Amino acid sequence: MIISVASGKGGTGKTLVATSLALSLKGKAKVQLLDCDVEEPNAHIFLRSTTNQSQPVFLPIPKVDKTKCTYCGKCAEVCAYNAIAVIKQKVLVFPELCHGCGACSYLCPESAITEEGREIGVVETSSLGNIEFIQGRLAIGETMAPPIIREVKRHIDSTKEVIIDVSPGTSCPVIEAVKDSDFCLLVTEPTPFGLNDLALAVEVTRKLGISCGVVINRVGVGDEKVESYCHEQEIPILLKIPLDRKIAALYSKGISLIEGMPRWRKAFLRLFQDIKEIVTASQVMKPTDWQEVAIDGETHVKRIKDLYQELGFEVRLEEVKPEEAEQCTKCYQERGEKIYRIYMRRKREASK
Ligand code: SF4
Ligand code: SF4
Repeated sequence: MIISVASGKGGTGKTLVATSLALSLKGKAKVQLLDCDVEEPNAHIFLRSTTNQSQPVFLPIPKVDKTKCTYCGKCAEVCAYNAIAVIKQKVLVFPELCHGCGACSYLCPESAITEEGREIGVVETSSLGNIEFIQGRLAIGETMAPPIIREVKRHIDSTKEVIIDVSPGTSCPVIEAVKDSDFCLLVTEPTPFGLNDLALAVEVTRKLGISCGVVINRVGVGDEKVESYCHEQEIPILLKIPLDRKIAALYSKGISLIEGMPRWRKAFLRLFQDIKEIVTASQVMKPTDWQEVAIDGETHVKRIKDLYQELGFEVRLEEVKPEEAEQCTKCYQERGEKIYRIYMRRKREASK
């Protein structure tokens, strides 16, 4: 089971909840804790883990062979991010803008573009008993968090209980971290700011089709509006953590709730069981045939389609309106491209 722990708002205690959930399962289940808050990973502080292994993450950046290039301009035309430009007899590449999508090298009619890796961060792994800890770390000055998050998520072992610590907000890194989860736990606080950002985060989980539940932290600090909202929206409140000086003191020292106040272990084990029951109930109704794999503009769709077909999958496309896509589609719209939701299934499954 994959549980992502998110919060629209920063500073609600999301990492405290994610690490407490993982530590409560220590000795009871095989657990993976993934810190996907790659701009400022800090779960390691609560775990007191030290890195065993560190792997660099590279983004493929185009490299142009001048002897083959005819300066036709197709690469610049196809780039949605203005990361490559053709000016007279020169092709300029702007690595900081490049998303490594590969469209330019795929569409270059002269096969003049190869790709070279640019290091944008690292993935670090360590373990504490039966808890495997994996964190992504974006290099200073870099902005491309989603490729690091994808690398961290490549370590997911579906035979284990996986807990993902997500970054705050509702933008691309959050979508990348939360998607494919079985459940999203939203941590909030009972204040107008907590409520505002909770509503945004709920919208994200609904667009992604992921069940969610709420943990209210610092109960007593504000009002009842978060609870009323959850009741109105039929979102289960799975745990309440009171505003408690002792909890704040532990947090400020980087000590987890389970270590500093072991009586909380039972509450987190209950939380895990509740999530498991919700997920099991929702899976009974989940279709298992076609799997959604991406939403993309028409320029890139052919490449993805060819790739999956080569790997032995059937591919189905469904055109979607920009407002139906659960990601930013501004660049496709600017280029007047159609947008597709891409589904795939194994060929042998289709023939059953
Ligand atoms: S598409 Fe290929 S041949 Fe055309 S300008 Fe770009 S690198 Fe050169
Ligand atoms: S790899 Fe993609 S983002 Fe990078 S320059 Fe080529 S088309 Fe643009």
